[in-house]
Amino acid sequence: MSRRADEVDSPVGRLLDLARRGRLYPATILHGGSADQRQRAAVEVARALLCEREAAADRPCGHCRSCARIAAPGGETNPFHPDFAWLARDLKTATSAEATRDFLRAAHSAPYEARGQVFVIGEADSLSPEAGDALLKLIEEPGLGSPRHYFLLAPSRLDLPETLRSRSLAVFLGSPVEIDPEKRRQLTESVIEGLTAWQQERSGLRLLDLARRLGQPEDFDDPRAEAPWIAAARVLRDVAIEPPPPLTALRPALLALADALLAAPPWRLRGIAAGRILEGLLARHLATAATAGTHKGDTQKGHTN
Ligand SMILES: [Zn+2]
Repeated sequence: MSRRADEVDSPVGRLLDLARRGRLYPATILHGGSADQRQRAAVEVARALLCEREAAADRPCGHCRSCARIAAPGGETNPFHPDFAWLARDLKTATSAEATRDFLRAAHSAPYEARGQVFVIGEADSLSPEAGDALLKLIEEPGLGSPRHYFLLAPSRLDLPETLRSRSLAVFLGSPVEIDPEKRRQLTESVIEGLTAWQQERSGLRLLDLARRLGQPEDFDDPRAEAPWIAAARVLRDVAIEPPPPLTALRPALLALADALLAAPPWRLRGIAAGRILEGLLARHLATAATAGTHKGDTQKGHTN
């Protein structure tokens, strides 16, 4: 696996840095990105933790005896490292407590050959409640002198129970769905239209229309999906970077709204419909903008700042 000069600026780069310095949390949630990205990140950081190179800065070297035997399951080779274990889902929709207990049994012993142990739960969102509890107990157990690291892979950190989340470092690997640039441009234009119409009329109907432009209900079908919220936030930031003159006064409100959208998915898990959350956030943030910047638009079409 190649290393890039800019890697310290990436989420995985920061994790590698912590791993090399021995500062990584016992439990790390790797969420966002694609399943493949999450697996590659787990393998890379596990290698950095167990690599045989003396100098920490050289880890992971990618080809020592240790690195060579650390891989995600399902590849053409099936290497075995006694201090590295990967729990894959064993049932159709769940990872059973039994499989989890078998998997975690190794965590009760000292490392065989490496300086620590690494356990990867490939689909942590599929852990049964009992399996989650068994894992939690181990994470909370004081160390045996050699470091043990757990990596929990899931599409969203919200897929995991609060007890596990509160004891882990969550690292977001990026939006799972990259928005097509053309679609992003269209969406941005549509939101500008909606905002301009709202700016002129300031009615509930315009607000509803704006919410609809920001996110189609079907985009938000999966309560755990963060991608549509991220897409909506990005579009609002696009608008805020260079708003057309009638919307200049809305800039701070649009940026605050984008942040609020990124923080919104947990509300969805409480059973509040995505459309309602969008409307509520729009109403709250645009209402403050309304008092700050009244009578914009028709009289100030020229240069504004
Ligand atoms: Zn190595």
